[in-house]
Amino acid sequence: MKIHAIRTGSVAVKTRQRRGAGLGPARLAATLIDRSWTEPLPIYAWLIEHPEGPIVIDTGETARVEERGYFPAWHPYFRFGVRTWVKPEEEIGPRIRAIGIEPDHVRWVVMTHLHTDHAGGLSHFPKSEILVSRAEFENASGPMGRARGFLPNRWPEWLDPTLFDFGADSLGPFPQSRPVTAAGDVTIVPTPGHTKGHVSVVFEEGDRLVFFAGDTSYTQSLMVAGAVDGVAPDVRRARETLRRIQEYAKQRPLVYLPSHDPEAKGRLEAREAVSADGAMAAGLQPRVST
Ligand SMILES: [Zn+2]
Repeated sequence: MKIHAIRTGSVAVKTRQRRGAGLGPARLAATLIDRSWTEPLPIYAWLIEHPEGPIVIDTGETARVEERGYFPAWHPYFRFGVRTWVKPEEEIGPRIRAIGIEPDHVRWVVMTHLHTDHAGGLSHFPKSEILVSRAEFENASGPMGRARGFLPNRWPEWLDPTLFDFGADSLGPFPQSRPVTAAGDVTIVPTPGHTKGHVSVVFEEGDRLVFFAGDTSYTQSLMVAGAVDGVAPDVRRARETLRRIQEYAKQRPLVYLPSHDPEAKGRLEAREAVSADGAMAAGLQPRVST
């Protein structure tokens, strides 16, 4: 099945955001005061050309970020923590039209979480069913959502997502899941940590798994190292999520695709799975396959 990496511009964050330091609330403070920026990182969304209808995972960022006042100046993260670059032709609508798919024909849009660089392109999908975890939607909505760094005031007026809770069916090391397709090959699993209701999407391609990871980590080697980012509100759950992904990658060949990993597109195209070599590169013991 054809899967596309859709790049919707670039984002730079503090190096302390990519890999967190310190304990408790000090992690976020360390991120904000850090003077060192990452290079501009890709903002990826994904498109699966599925026989049941095109599936989009995350919607990337909007070019409106270039408008003065689009981000709330009162919010310390937007003021000190992030820089974003998106051209109009880089938004997800024009991007997927360029590969021959009308946004109106997209059947499902699955959101890993609702941070602006994932939800900024929602306006392109008024005709699609938009799947959001109930925990994420509640956490991101209203004044509290804005204080937490979400931009619910920028969501499209028409937004009325299908809110889901997880059923009891396990998938690999994940105790709960939520199916997307009737074929059973696309499934959502809970991966909380980076945000309270963060989810990932698993596409089973034969024996292989393509794992659309959202922001569970910024790179594959950080996932392999179990290193939590500097903005996750719940470090313990984030670590547990990374452990589950590591475990899944031991059980099956798993192509790991975080949204801001410069190497994700290449790994997708080569269907390059997490390997024992990857673990060694991160300074861990090589894995014994079971
Ligand atoms: Zn995020």
